[in-house]
Amino acid sequence: MKLLILWGSNIIFFNQKNTYLGSIRIYMRTCIKSAFLFISMITSFCYAQLNITVSNIQAENIMLGNYNPSVYMPTVVIDQPDLISAGIFNNVSPDSLKANIIKLSTFHNRNSASDTLSPTIGIGAARKWVFSKFQQYSNANENRLLPFYLQFDRVICTRNKHKDICAVLPGSDTSDKSIIIIEGHIDSRCEDECDTLCNAQGIEDNASGTALVMELARVMSQYSYKHTIVFLVTIAEEQGLFGAEAFADYTYAKGITVKAVQNNDVVGGILCGETSSPPSCPGLGNVDSVDVRIFSYGNFNSKHKGYARFSKLEYKEQLLPFVDTPMNIMIMTPEDRTGRSGDHVPFRIKQYASIRYTSANEHGNANVTDTAYHDHQHTTNDTLGVDTDADQIIDSFFVDFRYLARNAYINGNAAAMCAIGPKQPDFLLSAVGADRIRIEVTVQTQYNMYRVGVRSNTNDWDTVCTMTNTLIDTFDVSSINDVVYVSIMSVDGDSVESIPSKEYTVNISSVEEAKALANEKVQLHQNRPNPFDESTYIQFYADGIVPYNTAELVITSINGVQLKVIPVVMNPGMNEVMYTHGYGATGILYYSLYIDGRLIDTKAMVFAN
Ligand SMILES: [Zn+2]
Repeated sequence: MKLLILWGSNIIFFNQKNTYLGSIRIYMRTCIKSAFLFISMITSFCYAQLNITVSNIQAENIMLGNYNPSVYMPTVVIDQPDLISAGIFNNVSPDSLKANIIKLSTFHNRNSASDTLSPTIGIGAARKWVFSKFQQYSNANENRLLPFYLQFDRVICTRNKHKDICAVLPGSDTSDKSIIIIEGHIDSRCEDECDTLCNAQGIEDNASGTALVMELARVMSQYSYKHTIVFLVTIAEEQGLFGAEAFADYTYAKGITVKAVQNNDVVGGILCGETSSPPSCPGLGNVDSVDVRIFSYGNFNSKHKGYARFSKLEYKEQLLPFVDTPMNIMIMTPEDRTGRSGDHVPFRIKQYASIRYTSANEHGNANVTDTAYHDHQHTTNDTLGVDTDADQIIDSFFVDFRYLARNAYINGNAAAMCAIGPKQPDFLLSAVGADRIRIEVTVQTQYNMYRVGVRSNTNDWDTVCTMTNTLIDTFDVSSINDVVYVSIMSVDGDSVESIPSKEYTVNISSVEEAKALANEKVQLHQNRPNPFDESTYIQFYADGIVPYNTAELVITSINGVQLKVIPVVMNPGMNEVMYTHGYGATGILYYSLYIDGRLIDTKAMVFAN
């Protein structure tokens, strides 16, 4: 108790010589906390993007769903999924992508703070050109595509005013107002992220993604979708994802609902550099033109991972039967490469389903301060390619335009199916005997068909089963961990899946047996110290090896409100986890140990400070 009193008050600090060190800690903590709070306040006041506006109010109304869809219907409506998939597949052109990338290379430097006045070089000329291309695609499609800028103020490398270049394709059904975004950043950089004069062609990073977004705007504008689609070319990714963050902040502030976000960053290169950020490619000179990676946040019940799985499924079902070069879509575990980030992240922070496409092979880890760094990424070497026969014409390109085209139609197909598909369902999951699950659809019960995605220890589904003309069904499943993760999709009359439901998990081993085993072998202990001040240790004992897939401690308030979920590793013997509640509160909390979603035990802990 002496400790508690001491931690609660700085006055006692001077009177208790035997607890001198503990008191110093309090004092230091308070200082650090105050300094941190102060810095956070300064940061949030000075550095947020300000004055975020769109240049075309009609574009805003469309994103809000406040418009008459008939105004934007084409003379000939093409809205059948198979025709749209085939149309995207057949019309995405490697030559068109190449032309876009060559044009993007001519602006010399597309740094966010580069020239905005020159008609030929710098970010100003580059964004005017992208805008004019969006307008050109619109003109070719009965003016259905509306280009606009999203403008914002923020000091980035000395420049204060910035613009994302956007185009909105209005959906045909305003009853569900959510939009789908396909994005890629246009800004480029050299070794110094604020160098506005160097030769910063930024071809892999990220003329490839910009060209992809533009090509999909051109091709996809020919078709009709229920949902509105936004083609978004962002600025200031390299200095901190500011253009994407401005767009995410804008949609959030306006109440525009975002159904899904597909970010494309470094999507055309097939050569591995000397270095690359983990998870990495094999090494210098390795070529890979058949794998593409999708990075996304979270694991169990992650809507981002769910959207990645959906995108892959739509590729396999709509396009794979027709392609001559099959692509392998790798659903990666982390949100991005180690230590790296991208324009999907600000949207994920706003809770929108967000994924990032990136080539399997990358040329460099962007560690430009390393004197031994010879790779292209974030340097003047991220160029079009090389002139192999000395005729002053580049004939060997670092971006593979056919590979880029494949990534473009994978993107376009996923966005299109998301934009025309049915509504997202929900369901109840249970185990019925060993290796058998029961599904009962409970939300969006109007469809004749549902797909059931089942996975065990991988990021992708192991199997996708089908339910026809029923809302209740059972399936045989298997899992090496005796645990399966299940989500379902509605299927409409045109055989298009919805994005996946929430994910649930269940133990499919002989359920009673597993339960008895875990309860017998695992004991949850009383936390120590208890009562506690800011932090306490929660311990649990495992008698030998306990087979499990997930184990977590769940902290709940006395009112049953879940405060924190702490994933834990269960080693044989005593395990302990530190729980920090924070300073300046008193009361009772409960902590529960769950193994594979099954409750093992619950205990109370008391905190006082
Ligand atoms: Zn990039």
